[in-house]
Amino acid sequence: MPTRKEILGSVERVVVKIGTSSLMQGTDSIHQPFMDSVAEQVARLRDEGKEVLIVTSGAIGIGLKAMGVVPKPNEIPIRQAAASVGQSILMQKWSESFQKQGILVAQILMTLDNYSDRESALNLNNTVETLLRNGVVPIFNENDAVCIKEIKFGDNDTLSAIVASRTDADLLVLLSDIDGLYDKDPHSNPDARFIPTVERIDESVMAMGGRSSTSVGTGGMVTKLSAAKICSDAGCHMIIASSTAYGVVYRTAVGDDVGTVFVAEAEISKKRRWIKAAHPSGRVSIDKGAEKALLSHRSLLPVGITEVSGTFAKGEVVEIASEGNVVAKGICSYGSSELSKIAGKHSAEIEKVLGYRVHDDAFISDNIALLRYSRRMSIETSLSCSNVQV
Ligand code: GLU
Repeated sequence: MPTRKEILGSVERVVVKIGTSSLMQGTDSIHQPFMDSVAEQVARLRDEGKEVLIVTSGAIGIGLKAMGVVPKPNEIPIRQAAASVGQSILMQKWSESFQKQGILVAQILMTLDNYSDRESALNLNNTVETLLRNGVVPIFNENDAVCIKEIKFGDNDTLSAIVASRTDADLLVLLSDIDGLYDKDPHSNPDARFIPTVERIDESVMAMGGRSSTSVGTGGMVTKLSAAKICSDAGCHMIIASSTAYGVVYRTAVGDDVGTVFVAEAEISKKRRWIKAAHPSGRVSIDKGAEKALLSHRSLLPVGITEVSGTFAKGEVVEIASEGNVVAKGICSYGSSELSKIAGKHSAEIEKVLGYRVHDDAFISDNIALLRYSRRMSIETSLSCSNVQV
């Protein structure tokens, strides 16, 4: 097994996610010395040529405290109001900590659809790249004040995984109140075994997730494991580590043995990374023949599509499912109403049915990203094909 230094030796861009419980460090308010220490470690990493982006939680908790209110369970408006109060205090605190290092910070508030729409995703990435080029540390949080359920990431573990995958980061560090992954919940199982390295996030690893361990944040181990999956699929390593570990931000980024590392799959293209991370606008179901073509990295023709659900425009990302399992995501060459009309038909009939023809394929192969399960199948398929040829 490669060492941590070997795995993380070439890390250049790091996203650090800091949860509410980490920011509070066991107190009932924001812990400025912790933020100062993060800023100091980020400064050191930057001196060594690394780029650092931050995803911070804490807006809601800080806002509630400042307003002196305690919301009822599921009382959304007061939390959203609190987020808008807390976010500005939070940024002020980050700004103060980074100022001590002579570093400027930028606030980026996000919703899920920012990364689902290719144009706003590109704009966002341009902003991030420009900030980094100018030595500014981008600090992300979800735009809780405006988010409604459908467009919420829900927790900053997921948000940070999307940010890491979409900004082509090499490493995501999730700082938490737990020091990494255990084979069972260490709070209730004294014999739980610590897992330093996860090379493949399979069902047995997902089963180690259990329930949330933190009382103030919204993410638990399950959301962290899902975040690890998003990162791994995007070619980004991820580490879960305790925010209380000495020099944790610096040490994780330079490959010291801290926390649990989830080793990324091979590098994949930027466009496919974007497709995988995009929020799907609909779904198409395909038949077995089309699935086979997909797994051989061929385009998807309308003839193989058995059902179209949801409303989407040409150019939007949709899920591609076979026998109820989502096996890929892709950018569709047709909108949902056009696609419904040509589904099951041969490409030669497209013009007759629609009166025009945009493309022979419903999804061109360049616009299809196979998901983890199907990628494995595809490797197996090509292996068995090459066996036949031999
Ligand atoms: N966006 C939330 C906040 O700033 C945090 C969500 C989370 O805890 O993951 O309060």
